[in-house]
Amino acid sequence: MAYRRVLLKLSGEALMGGQGYGIDPAIVQAIAKDVVEVVAGGTQLAIVVGGGNIFRGLKGSAAGMDRATADYVGMLATVMNAITLQDGLERVGVPTRVQSAISMQEVAEPYIRRRAIRHLEKGRVVIFGAGCGNPFFTTDTTAALRAAEINADVIFKATKVDGVYDKDPAKHADAVRYETLTFLDVLSGELEVMDSTAIALCKDNAIPIVVFDLFGSGNIGRAVAGEPIGTSIVP
Ligand code: UDP
Repeated sequence: MAYRRVLLKLSGEALMGGQGYGIDPAIVQAIAKDVVEVVAGGTQLAIVVGGGNIFRGLKGSAAGMDRATADYVGMLATVMNAITLQDGLERVGVPTRVQSAISMQEVAEPYIRRRAIRHLEKGRVVIFGAGCGNPFFTTDTTAALRAAEINADVIFKATKVDGVYDKDPAKHADAVRYETLTFLDVLSGELEVMDSTAIALCKDNAIPIVVFDLFGSGNIGRAVAGEPIGTSIVP
């Protein structure tokens, strides 16, 4: 395997599957199937999960809500996803811990960096919920932050698209997929990979990102093995 410790970013939308809202149990099962193999192979896996399938702060604030309040609702949404994902993983025998950046001790551990690392060393998957605990941030930025904190070798951004394209492949038949990009390419080209705060954090800490299609069965394992799937973003 190419990577020892991986931070997997799952967007809320990815968990939604074909539905318009919420979580598709079949998607959770498919992710769990991939994760079980990756963990059995000895890779340490941490997951940051988004909340866009339930609530997005920006949308709430566009509808007139106070932005910070709306962002807190968004963070709570990520905790629902984290607990659902935990259930899916534990049903296939993967030991997991959810750590929340907003304390809610009845349902999740608080985020404690050293404890998260200890869980990973013991082969437990750590799911980070509630983003980084602050409004005006995203779960992509959280993924970059947590990856730096736990010394992850790489961030896997598993999405609905199989990499980064020069234009929207859903709208343009001639869209070209990049195999490799630098952080500067992403920042200067305004390519839609992660928000600029997340990219800047990855750039400053030299954490590579691999963007690939979550729905290709076994793709997480392929990415762990270092197979050239999707688009790699490197320093
Ligand atoms: N959020 C936040 N701070 C964070 C992470 C998330 O305020 O550190 C809020 C924000 O409102 C965001 C929502 O939680 O819209 C859901 O997260 P995100 O949009 O990143 O989820 P994804 O797009 O990955 O599903």
